[in-house]
Amino acid sequence: MIICEIAPFKRLFTMIPLMPDYILSAWNIFGNYTAILLMTAGLILVLSYYFYLLILTDKKSRYDYINKNEIKSLWFSFLLFAVGATLLLNTLFSPTTWLWFFVRLFLSSMMTIIISVVVQNMLKFYFPFFIEKRLKKLRYSPRISADGNIMKLLSEEEEDVYLDEGMQAEENVFSIDYDVWIDEKTGSTKIEKYNGKLRALKCENCNYQTLKLVKEEVIQKATLQNTGELTKLFCCTYCGHKQKKSHNIAKLNPKALSTD
Ligand SMILES: [Zn+2]
Repeated sequence: MIICEIAPFKRLFTMIPLMPDYILSAWNIFGNYTAILLMTAGLILVLSYYFYLLILTDKKSRYDYINKNEIKSLWFSFLLFAVGATLLLNTLFSPTTWLWFFVRLFLSSMMTIIISVVVQNMLKFYFPFFIEKRLKKLRYSPRISADGNIMKLLSEEEEDVYLDEGMQAEENVFSIDYDVWIDEKTGSTKIEKYNGKLRALKCENCNYQTLKLVKEEVIQKATLQNTGELTKLFCCTYCGHKQKKSHNIAKLNPKALSTD
């Protein structure tokens, strides 16, 4: 009785055409090679990123390298690895029918797309917190001068003496920060330039490190007598929250002007 009920299903399954051996084995072999190639490329990319970081000793260079490359490297190596792994999964079943082949291909591709979206969002919105912490540590940990002495980071007020007019103007108007390190024993200095536009700040609405500078406007120019005013417009790339901040621009320095 039971056998009779199962029989129609059995017939249905045998009607689905089996994937011919020569196509399947060609797919399995070449798919396998390509998958291993892609996964290896992904691993090499991420390893070479960290290897290069390992041999970079200068803190400022490390800072710039991480800032510029870390998220990009992790994302592309993940993509290579994920596509490779998906392909590999689809080369492991033999024999198979056309139907199962496409069902498996479709489901695994969907799965990969979903995981990729999650990973992309983590890299975009959560990971910057982690990077920012490391960058801060790199930026503010003591530099060593050429003479081997520990250098001291000057405060915003102290550092102006060491920056030329152009640098000061840049610091006031454009989103560029200069850090001045001084070797107090020999008086030698080291000036490092940081781009404030690249750095994302913490959004006060969603708390993610995704607040980016979109516009700067000088409301009032600084003169010899009066300070000027600058507004910065920030926009959060995560929640779209907008934030405005006003800054004073220092009075022009008469000494610097007369030397022009
Ligand atoms: Zn936000």
